[in-house]
Amino acid sequence: MPTVMATKVILEQLITNADRLNSLVVEAKEMAFQHGILLRTPETPNSSEVVSFAPFTLFPSPVPEAPLLQALAVYTHFNTLVDKISQDPDFLQESIVVGLNRSDYMVDQRADRTSSLKQIEINTIAAGGFGVSDRLSVVHRHAMKSVGLLEESKCIQDTSRTPRMSAALAKAWELYGQHKAVILFLVEEVQLSQLSHRTIERELWKRDGLEVAVVYYRYGYMPDHYTEQVRYEYSLISVLLLSTHLVGTKKVQQVLARPGVLERFFPDQPQVVEQIRATFAGLYTLDMGPEGDQTVAMALANPDKFVLKPQREGGGNNYFGEDIVRVLQEVKGDERRAAYILMDRIRPRIEQKILLKKGLPLKLTSICYEIGVYGAYVRYNTMVLSEVAGHTLRSKSAEYDDAGLTRGITTFDNPLII
Ligand code: ADP
Ligand code: MG
Ligand code: MG
Repeated sequence: MPTVMATKVILEQLITNADRLNSLVVEAKEMAFQHGILLRTPETPNSSEVVSFAPFTLFPSPVPEAPLLQALAVYTHFNTLVDKISQDPDFLQESIVVGLNRSDYMVDQRADRTSSLKQIEINTIAAGGFGVSDRLSVVHRHAMKSVGLLEESKCIQDTSRTPRMSAALAKAWELYGQHKAVILFLVEEVQLSQLSHRTIERELWKRDGLEVAVVYYRYGYMPDHYTEQVRYEYSLISVLLLSTHLVGTKKVQQVLARPGVLERFFPDQPQVVEQIRATFAGLYTLDMGPEGDQTVAMALANPDKFVLKPQREGGGNNYFGEDIVRVLQEVKGDERRAAYILMDRIRPRIEQKILLKKGLPLKLTSICYEIGVYGAYVRYNTMVLSEVAGHTLRSKSAEYDDAGLTRGITTFDNPLII
C-alpha cells in the first residue's frame, strides 16, 4: 500500500482506539525525554528544573522527494548569496564570517494539481529549530514501526544538523588560530531554547579558551534587542549583527526577486540565477511611487491571495486576509507603507495529524508543513566552507495563518519521503 494511504488508514484506526493511542503517545513522549527533545516551558522560561518535551507530531509527514531534493540542491547558492549581500568591503573582509542560515519553503498546491517549491523566507540570525529536535527521527521511526509501518519507517532520514552546523563554528575558531579563544553565544534573556544551544555547546566543548574568536548570534532579531547597552558594549558585534540581520529581512528578499538583481550577484551563472529564482514566490514593493500604488490596489482587491509582511522575525507579525485591508487602509497614503512588503500567499497541502504538546488533548488536527534547509558557510577572504547542513520539517495547525515554535503554534516534524 502506498505510504500516504497506509499512514492515513493507521491514523484513522488509531484515533478510534483510545487505549492503543494513549500507550503509543506515552511511549513517544518518554522517548522524546530520553533523546533530549526538550523545551523549557513558557510558564518557567528560565528554569533548568522544569522542562517539557518540545511539541512534535506523533507521525512524520509525507513529503514528495522532488521538492525536498530541489530545496537541498539550491542551498549552497543561498550561502553565496547571503554572504555576497552581507559583505562590507572595508570592514568584513578582514574578519572570519560564519553563516548559519535556514531557508524555509512551503510546497504550493496549484489548482491544476501540480505543486511547486516556494521559499517563504531565509533566516540569517534566527535560524533555530535544530539541536534538541535532531533525534526526533528516532521517535518517529519507532512510532511507525509500532503501528506496523516497518517499510515506511525507512523513509525517514537522519540529517545530523547540529554536528554540521557546529562544524562551521569550529572551522572559524580553527582559522582564528588561538587555542585560548572562545566562541561567544549571544542569546536572549528569556531562554526557551537553551537546551538547543547546549547541544551546539556540547559539540564544541572539546575546545577551550578566553579570547572571543567567533560570535554566534541567537539574538538581535527583535527591535528591543538593540538596547543602548548592546550598542555600547558590543559595538563591533552590533555592526556584524546588523549586516547579517539585514540580509535576512523581508525587504531584501523582495528586492532580490526584482528583475536583474540576482544577475548582479551571479553575473556569469545564469543557471544559478534560474535555480534560485524558481523558488521565489511573487514579491511586491510597497515603496512610495506608481509600482507601490499598484501593489496596494492589487492587495486591497484580493487580500486572500497575499501576505503582508513587516520587517520582523520570530513569527506572529504578518497580516492575512481582512487584516491586510485594515493595515493598508491606514498606511497606504504615506511612507509608513514602505516598511512592509507584499507576498503571494502559498497554499500548502493540508493533512490530518496528531500533535503532541503539553496540555493539548489528543485529536486529529489539520496541519500544513514548512520545509527548512540548513546551510553553513565560513568565509575568510575566500569561501573556506559552504555546505547544506541538513533539513527539517515544522508543522503548524492550519487554523493559524502565522507560525512560531516559542509561540506554541509550531511543532517539530520530519519528512517521510515519498
Ligand atoms: P518569520 O520571520 O516571523 O518566521 P515568515 O515569513 O516565516 O516570518 O512568516 C511566518 C509564518 O507565516 C510562516 O512560517 C508561514 O506559516 C506563514 N507565511 C509566511 N509567508 C507566507 C506565504 N507567502 N504564504 C503562506 N503562509 C505564509
Ligand atoms: Mg524568519
Ligand atoms: Mg519564518
